[in-house]
Amino acid sequence: MLKILFTFIAIIISVSCFAQSVTFKNLNIVCPSDAIPAEVTAAKELQKYLTKITKENIVITDTKKDQAYNIYIGLTDTTNKVSNFNFNELKKDGIYISIKPDFMVLAGNRKAGTLYAVYEFLEKYLNCKFYAVDEEIIPTKTNIKLSVGDYSYSPQIFYREPWYYKVVRNRNNDFQAKMRVNGHFADIPDEWGSSNYLLGWCHTFSLYMNPDVYFDSHPDWFAERDGKREKPFLLREQPCLTNKEMQAEMIKNILKTIKENPNTTVVSVSQNDNNNYCTCKNCTAFVKEHGNQADLLINYVNEVADAITKVYPNIIVETLAYSYTVEPPKTIRPNKNLLIRLCSEFDNVNTNINDPKHKKFADSISAWKKMTNNLYHWDYICNITQLQIPFPNQKTVLDDIKIFANNNMVGTFLQGDYWNKDISFADMRIWTSSKMLWNPTLNSSALIKEFMTAYYKESSTYMIDIYSTYEDLYKNYDLSILQMSNNTFKPEDYIKLFRLFNAAQKTAKSDVIKNRVSIERRSLEMSFLLNSAKFQNKVYSTGVIKKIDGNQWAEDYLKWAKETSNLGLAEVKTLDMGYFIGTGIYKIPKSKKIPEFCKNIPDENWFELQDVTASLAGEGTEVFRIDDPDASDGKALKMPGKFLNWSIQMSLLGAASLGFNDVDVYITVKGKKSGTTGGNGTSLGCGVHDQEGGPLSGGGQKILTLDEMPTEYKDIYVGRMKITKSSYFWFSHPNNPDLDYFMVDRVILVKK
Ligand SMILES: [Zn+2]
Repeated sequence: MLKILFTFIAIIISVSCFAQSVTFKNLNIVCPSDAIPAEVTAAKELQKYLTKITKENIVITDTKKDQAYNIYIGLTDTTNKVSNFNFNELKKDGIYISIKPDFMVLAGNRKAGTLYAVYEFLEKYLNCKFYAVDEEIIPTKTNIKLSVGDYSYSPQIFYREPWYYKVVRNRNNDFQAKMRVNGHFADIPDEWGSSNYLLGWCHTFSLYMNPDVYFDSHPDWFAERDGKREKPFLLREQPCLTNKEMQAEMIKNILKTIKENPNTTVVSVSQNDNNNYCTCKNCTAFVKEHGNQADLLINYVNEVADAITKVYPNIIVETLAYSYTVEPPKTIRPNKNLLIRLCSEFDNVNTNINDPKHKKFADSISAWKKMTNNLYHWDYICNITQLQIPFPNQKTVLDDIKIFANNNMVGTFLQGDYWNKDISFADMRIWTSSKMLWNPTLNSSALIKEFMTAYYKESSTYMIDIYSTYEDLYKNYDLSILQMSNNTFKPEDYIKLFRLFNAAQKTAKSDVIKNRVSIERRSLEMSFLLNSAKFQNKVYSTGVIKKIDGNQWAEDYLKWAKETSNLGLAEVKTLDMGYFIGTGIYKIPKSKKIPEFCKNIPDENWFELQDVTASLAGEGTEVFRIDDPDASDGKALKMPGKFLNWSIQMSLLGAASLGFNDVDVYITVKGKKSGTTGGNGTSLGCGVHDQEGGPLSGGGQKILTLDEMPTEYKDIYVGRMKITKSSYFWFSHPNNPDLDYFMVDRVILVKK
């Protein structure tokens, strides 16, 4: 009896297996004439990959082919006829994969859904892997059997943008579609599914209410600060949000701009990038009555959104919850058609958002969540002040996506490294971020491991170890996106890491893997060379690496970075020799003009910071590099008197690495008066800005009056300052009509 029963069960199983699977061969792709451009692309992509996999000669037809296994592509009339699926169930970008015994459907929400369905099918059912632009794994298979069944999925996060070079900046449309990215900067054409364009992008108040156009006739339309309404300089103020006349004019300007951009789906109506909100009587009274600055902002944007909706009912209006408006409104509630973009904090970016360190921000998220279904997260995830060195926070980034998704998040902008192609595990970050944005239930550690294993192949064990060592070294440290150096790495850590890199390079067989490993090794070398000679010698003495000649290394690095599009140093800075000189990696001899006060002190106790190391804002208009035979090194920086900006910034990283911490600071400058009004006034401002501690921390600033400005170069004492590896020395213009210009030759630091 028992034996008979077993036989019976076995028959049922085999029958059911037979009924549930289909032999995937003799394929034909059906792409009917009413398919949209992205669906036509989807058909071609499917043809390309199925040909590679099956070695069959697969064609695309517009109607089904008899005696073939037809694969219907797109949300066409034909698809609707052959499938009994209700496509209205799919949300934006949703996909539908249906495998029947005698045909198949790959379709999705228009425009991009069908493309995504094709890639999902290739990945999920045929085990294809699209890890990077240059790393796809396409298995070749004969005798493929697929289980019969349906699969549908709609992503919760409709706006997905990991802001990285290879997936956004260099516009590889097929790779963008494979990664399912679709944000503002991706700029994807219709043939590849298009992207979500945010008209104005962000900080748009000044775009629609330009002080240059309106201030003179309507000063009361702009913020009152300290009892005064002054013309906003460099857009450093907000409009007065209780002024109805201003609001009407802004609405008029927004509607005009939408009309000029007929493809707009989202329009940004958002505060300028500063904290100077209006403190006039009416604004203050509104805030007092209703709650806080977010109440005032949301009330204002609600009214603007109402006016936009009357003309364009389908347009979503975006506003920022940023800086002084991150804390949610107390009484006012956002309209249904508002998209709220919450901006993350700059600190502790290697700590998940549900950690007590982020309590204030997490509280804001849960409060916003209760008042809107349209939350969007702007996350700062890369090191915007030093992009070239290790920055291990990807696991946190991925887990935060998960946490935000649990808080109803529908859009994510990951502000990553848009400037460099490869450095700092960019490919790993792109792939893992894209996967998590598409499906936030995935496991972050498993994603990172899968990528590293596939991408570094024979060297992957070591590369996984290297990345997790980086993570461990920051375990108890608050990683900031303003991180100038890997300040937690000790000599023994570099010894361990270089050993792992030596092993990874030795194990690498192909040039491709050798190159991938060496990209990350360069990054560690850069980090290592930002330490003092004494520190470096501790590592050299073990023999783990040969002594690096900084000058040669810097030249090679710069050449490599130029050739490979890895020249991004910081958010607005390009890597150049000045950086290597400023950090002391590339050593130049001190100039022959030894200051009087340095003649009797040891050479290693004074540091000469030359103009060549400066990063300039507004080069060519507000500040100029010029040859000047009177300058100590024959070169100087010229600053016209009429501007007002921090145009010169010199990194103090090199000096701080050499132990210059408590210093007396001198500047070598000269200037020329114009005498326009005959006044005195300011001729320059300068001081220390600390990236980690905030402007002027531990430093303060020095202002020279016009009378104090020498006409020939002179070393002028500025003051005693504390500096760190993240400090900058800056010079600003005075915006004084009586100064024609001033020139900066150098800055001198004397150890105390
Ligand atoms: Zn006001």
